[in-house]
This record gives sequence, C-alpha cells and structure tokens, in this order.
Amino acid sequence: MIGENGTMYYLSNSKVCTHIHCGKAALFAAETCARHLEDTSAWREEIHRRVRSGESLQGANLENANLKGMALPMAKLEEANLAGADLEGADLEAAHLTRVVAPGANFKGANLRGAQCGLALLGAAVLDEAVCDGADFRRANFVGTSARNASFRECDFYYSRPGAADFSGADLSEANIQRAIFRAANLRGAKLETARGSANFERATRG
Ligand SMILES: [Zn+2]
Repeated sequence: MIGENGTMYYLSNSKVCTHIHCGKAALFAAETCARHLEDTSAWREEIHRRVRSGESLQGANLENANLKGMALPMAKLEEANLAGADLEGADLEAAHLTRVVAPGANFKGANLRGAQCGLALLGAAVLDEAVCDGADFRRANFVGTSARNASFRECDFYYSRPGAADFSGADLSEANIQRAIFRAANLRGAKLETARGSANFERATRG
C-alpha cells in the first residue's frame, strides 16, 4: 500500500482477496478483504485467540477490519495496517503499535493506556474520548486527527505532528510536548498547563 506521505509499505501478508474482481489484499488470517469477509465474528474470535496467546501480528493487514470493542491488551501490532479499521471502545492497553499505519482508523473511547505508538501514522484518525495515559506517541503523525476530550496524561508527544488536529478538551497534564507541532490545531479547553517542553503553536486555537 502507499501511505499518506507517499511511502510504500510492504506488508508481510501478500495474499489477495479471493472475491471475484476484488484485487485488494486479504486480511490477516483470512482469505478475503474486510469488505468481503463472510463470517466476521469467527474471524474476530480467531484474532482474539491469537492475540491472547501472545502471537505477534507485526505487519498484519487489518485494513478496514472490524475490531470494535475487542479486548486486545498488549497486542503486538507493530507496523500493522489499521487504515480505516474500527477499534471503537477496544482495549489496547500496553499494546505495541510502533509504526502502525492507521490513517482514518476509529479509536473512539478506546483504552490506549501505556501503549507504544512511536512513529504511528494516525492522520485523520478518531481518538475522541480515548484514554491514552502514559502512552508513547513520539514522532507520531496526528495531522487532521480528532482527539476531542481524550486523556493524554503523562504521554510522550516528543516531535509528534498534531497539525490541524482537534485536541479540544483533551487532557495533556504532565505530557511531554517538546518539539510537537500543533500548527493550526484546535486546543480549545485542552489542559496544557502542566505539559512540559516547548511546542509549535503557530495559528493554533487556544483558550
Ligand atoms: Zn475483497
């Protein structure tokens, strides 16, 4: 696939969806893409079983997958493709999401406490009301991301890029925002009083 910055990603799962004329990559542990998956609940159970057993899903293709509300604490998802995936309300506590490719993914209300999200591509993703306390977001891309009323207490945003993001009402208490780029971001009502480091707030909306 081609990422939002034009980078090519070579995924470990190179199977193609078996649905006629589809041509999209097959989901990890499936024969089809998410759209053509016939038994989503059986597939979800398989993913749950693998994560629970400690299997690594590094680089897995989970594009547009329905992972809503699933318990996936400590899941090993480094470099996985979660573009457009639905993770609303999912439990991803202490999950390994380094370099994950998740533009447009839905993490609304998800538990990301202590998650490792360095270099994650979260552009245009939804993190509204997500609880991410203590998570590592160093060098993560949040361009155009919506994280309204999310909890980012004690998170590390070193050199992250929340440009044009909506962090209104978000709690960044004790977070490290050194070199973070909040250019044109909406920070209305965001708690930044105890955040540490100097960030770029050019054209950001504050107050
Ligand atoms: Zn398909």
